[in-house]
Amino acid sequence: MSDGLKRVYGIDLGTTYSAIAYVDEHGKPVVVPNQESERITPSVVLFDGESIIVGNTAKEAAKVEPHRVVSRVKQHMGDAQFVFEYEGQVFSPEDISSFILRKVVGDAEVALGGEEKITDVVITCPAYFGTDEREATANAGRLAGLNVRAILNEPTAAAVAYGLEHGEDQVVMVYDLGGGTFDVTMIEIKDRLIRVICTGGDHRLGGALWDEAIVMALAESFRQQTGLDSDPLDDAEVLNDLFLQAERGKKTLSQRDKAPFRVTHAGHQARVELEKGHFEEITKHLLDRTVQLTREMLNDARVKGYNRFDKIILVGGATRMSQVRNRLVAEFETEPESYDPDEAVAKGAALYGLKESLEDEVRQRLALSGLSDDDDSVNIDLAAVSQEDMEIALDKIERELGYTLTGPVRELVSTQIVNVLSKSLGVVAKDENNREVVVTLLPRNGEVPMETTSDFGTDLANQQGVDIRVMAGERDSTEPGDCKDVGIATLNLPASLPARSPIRIKFAISKDGRLSVTATDLTGGASIAVEFETEAVMKPEQVEERSAALRLISVS
Ligand code: AMP
Repeated sequence: MSDGLKRVYGIDLGTTYSAIAYVDEHGKPVVVPNQESERITPSVVLFDGESIIVGNTAKEAAKVEPHRVVSRVKQHMGDAQFVFEYEGQVFSPEDISSFILRKVVGDAEVALGGEEKITDVVITCPAYFGTDEREATANAGRLAGLNVRAILNEPTAAAVAYGLEHGEDQVVMVYDLGGGTFDVTMIEIKDRLIRVICTGGDHRLGGALWDEAIVMALAESFRQQTGLDSDPLDDAEVLNDLFLQAERGKKTLSQRDKAPFRVTHAGHQARVELEKGHFEEITKHLLDRTVQLTREMLNDARVKGYNRFDKIILVGGATRMSQVRNRLVAEFETEPESYDPDEAVAKGAALYGLKESLEDEVRQRLALSGLSDDDDSVNIDLAAVSQEDMEIALDKIERELGYTLTGPVRELVSTQIVNVLSKSLGVVAKDENNREVVVTLLPRNGEVPMETTSDFGTDLANQQGVDIRVMAGERDSTEPGDCKDVGIATLNLPASLPARSPIRIKFAISKDGRLSVTATDLTGGASIAVEFETEAVMKPEQVEERSAALRLISVS
């Protein structure tokens, strides 16, 4: 595109595979292949001496050097406890994800002729990710030296891509079974509106568990055939080889009725042939769980007044398993539509990026042309701009670009994208029996942005401060044990307040899922915005420092 319009790339940072896309001048999203000429890159990282290798080579190396390889790091995003140690150095999930991002970005730059530097990106994450995981994902981008314009939900990205191709009004259910996560989301696509109604899922349920089930079956067959005591699963190299074979075999079973395997361990070899029926049997519980989570999501949607959907859209590589389609037909009496399972998310993210960048341009044109009262383009609210002024600004952009934007791309600018909160957010307080409970302030599946205020009381007289312990819940449970700590905010109190002094707590969640907490000591009357510290997320200055250090390491 021309100099005027900043190209924003969409990156699907997947558990097992990642992909990058942009939108060309015909308004078509295009996936950029990696240096190995593949359109998706395994999200696997090999620590190779001084440098890092990402992708297929790393995936293969897992067989012989498992201790140097990290895969499925996405499952640990936002987990402060997870670190990978290599030669005395410690790497966080954000660090490792930043290597994956550098690989896909660097390869795309080369594939595009090496003239353009990729700076601005939209990165996707499962709808199920909470605030910590989202912030960690954004930090991975920053660590890779990228300007992260947005963190977008994967199903929303898929719906953006789908909505652009299929213009009619409809309610779709996006069933997204990837390598490591399962997301199920109901989305309303209307003229100039993409609204997430409800979302559910499990961020540990994905294709990798189907692989694991195959691995277990292979080990069992090996033990039966050889009669050996020694377990192939105890040998890290054999285990990695079995995982690679399992993934390949699983893909074979998407096309054929049986798949061959060979297990070699402790000087013995076993040949195993896995029949599709048996594969389906040993993984039925996993599919059951996706159906159960889908039903739960549909119940939530019903509460919000949505009783039906028009289509089921399948995204995520693991939806290629034929049993997924068959089961969904049996359960919901709707023939699912497979929609670009590997690439829809990256493409949708690229379209969202284009939307962001076009919106910036429109705002600037409006500010310059005096069509808006606001001189500062950043403050212009596009929702308040008339359709006519919008068209004038877009025409101007087209003239400068020297080509026409397609109708659906023009419409993207004024398309509103509405998301919901995937986990409820609340604070820990004591109930009348002095028991700790989680009081929900922002409910799951509420539309973002949203804010709420609630009054609490101090526990003791002369309390010096209150710790506002923020927790996220996946189910509607009030038990702290069922929820996850998000962070703590501390409010210092003036001396000699009596017990039960009122404290007002305000929670506000932004459009992109960032939480801010304000507490007011109502006795003193002064509002004190408390610093909210999330436990698992790096601070901006830490990110900058770490980014400089990581960029000394070469990634290929
Ligand atoms: P994604 O995270 O969307 O890239 O999905 C990756 C998952 O899809 C991995 O578990 C892959 O093994 C799985 N997958 C990809 N292609 C197939 C296929 N043809 N049959 C079954 N599973 C597949």
